[in-house]
Amino acid sequence: MTAHRPPLSSPLARGQCLLCGAACALTARSETCACGGNLAVRPDTDAATFHRMSDAPGLWRYAALLPVGAEYAGKLKVGWTPLLHLETSGGVALHLKDDTRNPSGSLKDRASEVAVAVAVAQGIDTLVMASTGNAAASLSAIGAAAGRRVIVTVPATVPPAKLAQIRAYGARVHKIAGSYAEACGVAARIAREIGAMNRTTGLNPFTREGKKTCAFEIAEQLDWEAPDWVIVPTGDGNILSAMAKGFAELQALGVIARLPQLVAVQTAAAPIIARAFDPALPDASGQGTIADSIDVAEPQDFHAAVMALRATGGVAVVVGDAEIRASVLTMAARHGVFLEPSSAAAHAAFVRLAGEGVFARGARVVLLGTGTGLKDPRPVLEAFATETLPETRPEEWRQLLDPVGEPA
Ligand SMILES: *Cc1c(COP(=O)(O)O)cnc(C)c1O
Ligand SMILES: [Zn+2]
Repeated sequence: MTAHRPPLSSPLARGQCLLCGAACALTARSETCACGGNLAVRPDTDAATFHRMSDAPGLWRYAALLPVGAEYAGKLKVGWTPLLHLETSGGVALHLKDDTRNPSGSLKDRASEVAVAVAVAQGIDTLVMASTGNAAASLSAIGAAAGRRVIVTVPATVPPAKLAQIRAYGARVHKIAGSYAEACGVAARIAREIGAMNRTTGLNPFTREGKKTCAFEIAEQLDWEAPDWVIVPTGDGNILSAMAKGFAELQALGVIARLPQLVAVQTAAAPIIARAFDPALPDASGQGTIADSIDVAEPQDFHAAVMALRATGGVAVVVGDAEIRASVLTMAARHGVFLEPSSAAAHAAFVRLAGEGVFARGARVVLLGTGTGLKDPRPVLEAFATETLPETRPEEWRQLLDPVGEPA
């Protein structure tokens, strides 16, 4: 009983199934292949394309390598975030790609920006998706800026700050009494029923296109060289596969000479991609973790993520909540960067791998700052919850100094 199903869109890009290899034409309403595999945009291998880099804002500087042109850029400026050199220690240079500075505070904005642009280009006014929180907050922000209607489904475990952020942007939110995977099923049904675009991570081939611009930026910020390692917090595996695609496209165009090795960081509560490489890794599936953005029991981009690690000689690491909490505090106190737990997991993996001597002297390592700490301040609230700060009367300010006049 679908009343007003919008007309079908015409193809935007050539696509390919990541599982069976079948070729297809991609539109804003493309979903998975008939075989069940996820679809990917076939890269443009024309070197001349690359040199048509534009002065469009943010990630649209790479419009020549995106499925739609910069005329569909939104007004929020997504991407072109700083690559910060945090420190060089033991000969290893540690950098942070600070994607917390995107409009909604997470790397997901890259995917939403390109997905919404595709929807706008094809005249689609409603976008639907399932999310653990950040992707929905991102789509809600970018969709609001572009005057689109956004409908999201979230698992009931979504952190309150993320839910509030989604609501603030005016999206319609449905809590699903079930897992993220079940929320994905509901989103797909709604999208199909009302003829909307489904932006759910992995199922939508354009999210990877948006996120691959993060790899382009890192290479450009290192004067068109790949770093040696990029450490990627991994849930669905879409950021991981997008980083691999971005660097691979630059290599195919002759812009960078080699690929970085990627590190997939997961938690013991959701180690699915890591365990595909090493079944001996700790598995406490379903026990829950403070890193909710990577708490994904059924990764939506599993095959692409596994291929990304294979293609780059990457490794997978499983970290625990205690390491993640410590990294939230280290990143904030030592480097001035407040990350949400899932993002701090990249630093926890760096500490682990550095301790194992994995990084050679002279190596350049990039952590992805995928989400800001304000989205989920639980570790910080908990770390300082037992602390009751005494109140001092203003005229007694001298009590705040120790006997030699230094701050106590
Ligand atoms: C979504 C997200 C991730 C993981 O990305 P996937 O594509 O699901 O692997 C990591 N960190 C943050 C903060 C995120 O929002
Ligand atoms: Zn297929």
